[in-house]
Amino acid sequence: MAHVVGIDLGTTNSLVAHMRGDRPEIIANEAGKRLTPSIVGLDKADKIHVGDTAKNQLIAMPDRTVAEVKRLMGTSQKVRLGAREYTPQEVSAFVLKRLKDDAERYLGGAVAEAVITVPAYFTDAQRQATKDAGELAGFRVDRILNEPTAAALAYGLDHLDKEQFVLVFDLGGGTFDVSVLEMFEGVLDVKASAGNNHLGGGDFDRTVAEWLAKDFEAAHGIDLRRDVKAMVRLKSAAEQAKMELSSMTSTTIMLPFLAVKGAEPLSLETELTRQKLEELIGPMIRSTIEPVESALRDAKLDKSRITDVVLVGGSSRIPLVQALLADYFGKEARRGVHPDEAIALGAAVQAGLKSGAISTERGIMITDVCPFTLGVEVVANTGSQRMPGMFSPIIPRNSTVPVSRTEVYSTTGEQQRVVDIKVYQGESRLVKNNTFLDSYTIDGIPAAPAGHEKVAITFTYDVNGILNVKTKIVSTGKEAALCVDKSAQRMSDGEKGAAKERLDGEWKKPTADSAQPGDATGPLVAAAMAKLPSVNGTNKARLEELVGRLKSASARGDASESARLDGELTNLLFELD
Ligand code: AMP
Repeated sequence: MAHVVGIDLGTTNSLVAHMRGDRPEIIANEAGKRLTPSIVGLDKADKIHVGDTAKNQLIAMPDRTVAEVKRLMGTSQKVRLGAREYTPQEVSAFVLKRLKDDAERYLGGAVAEAVITVPAYFTDAQRQATKDAGELAGFRVDRILNEPTAAALAYGLDHLDKEQFVLVFDLGGGTFDVSVLEMFEGVLDVKASAGNNHLGGGDFDRTVAEWLAKDFEAAHGIDLRRDVKAMVRLKSAAEQAKMELSSMTSTTIMLPFLAVKGAEPLSLETELTRQKLEELIGPMIRSTIEPVESALRDAKLDKSRITDVVLVGGSSRIPLVQALLADYFGKEARRGVHPDEAIALGAAVQAGLKSGAISTERGIMITDVCPFTLGVEVVANTGSQRMPGMFSPIIPRNSTVPVSRTEVYSTTGEQQRVVDIKVYQGESRLVKNNTFLDSYTIDGIPAAPAGHEKVAITFTYDVNGILNVKTKIVSTGKEAALCVDKSAQRMSDGEKGAAKERLDGEWKKPTADSAQPGDATGPLVAAAMAKLPSVNGTNKARLEELVGRLKSASARGDASESARLDGELTNLLFELD
């Protein structure tokens, strides 16, 4: 039997899991790690690297490395890796290919299918792009699962017998989701979801990095924001400090040789306290309460009815997040599941339900919702006034899925032969405040006075959160042919086939064991060269030798040796200062 796996395709890290007997289990990657960074890099020999090896080259070769591509899914933005250009779904496909290879190696057989998770708040285009990425990686993807629902499945597996209301609070690297569920007799019934597609740990890191850059500019008059490499180092140091401050109250950020002023190398050394961090990221963290309240309102539940608050996502480790929730709910949030692994484990449970690895006798059933309202743009007629740009809902938010609804609309123009249907998601009455999803043109409407002809529009939102639109001209009974707007970010089967072939070709190239850090780490070598005239004898020889060895390790693409020499050179420069 071909295997089915569950995949958490995260902004920061990705994980793959499968069912071992009746328990879900994370599959470690080749390096023995359970988390694979969602980072893709192209080394100097134009070989693709994924995960830690790609992460190693992020600072030295930012123009050949991409992180956080999940933020771009569903957009038409292209990603540059050296001279090559990729779509976001192609970059994600490389991450998924890595996980597929890891799973096949571990399971000793082909993995044909995957259940892939997405934030509940992902739009139709983002879900389609995720599905496409899975297919480009060689998986069949019949099921896209909402991340908080997956986390609830992992949690629910051990709490099947209890009747309770649970709130899953999922704050990751790039997205925030909250879901309210009712659990009873093995049924996990999602009542409501809400969230913010663009909020997570990466935003906290950027805020801290900006603060560090401002401080540095005030002290030295150099704007690091214009230096990509320096900003990558600042962001990485900011993330490290942020994580340390989840268990400590103060930490030191030290970045040697960040810039050069004249011939003088400049370093950064700053104390960051938990208090200062909370001051910087507090407003973003507090903004999570609004979606929590919205989900509770939609679930028609008072916060006192929530039995357990389940924390998921790496950023839920931040003490301020826990304090905020404890204060809001009047009780400690739970660590009933592993914050980094729950989503992948839940996806594996769904995969197990799908493949039959979990017998239906165990009685797990899950229902989900469409977390946003879906509708079309209409012209509202109020007496003599015509108001274009109004939003007419067809599927109200938090409807249980799958759901199919039809609304009938009348023509607004005299002898109108064509209707443009513009599909949006969102909660505003004005389409300009909502998210545009797609547009279709229906023609062949019989000529008639305004308001005489009617068009029935049917929206079907499936369990994967993918929307299908059908229209019918009521007078003729004719289902109009839908013309999909080319601006939608969908790949045709032909495009998918060609892209898959190209990616397969690039993937099959033998991959080097380690990534190259690029030619000699900019400011560090510049600082060493600037130092040379002022040192003599052994020190001069040591400096020259280290610079030479660093350059050749870099040219060879030996990442670990380069990183080691980098450290050695940094120490020597400190010693000589
Ligand atoms: P996820 O998307 O769930 O993998 O979460 C990744 C995010 O969690 C990244 O932004 C990490 O910096 C963040 N993270 C991981 N561990 C911690 C920690 N101990 N404290 C604060 N943030 C963390």
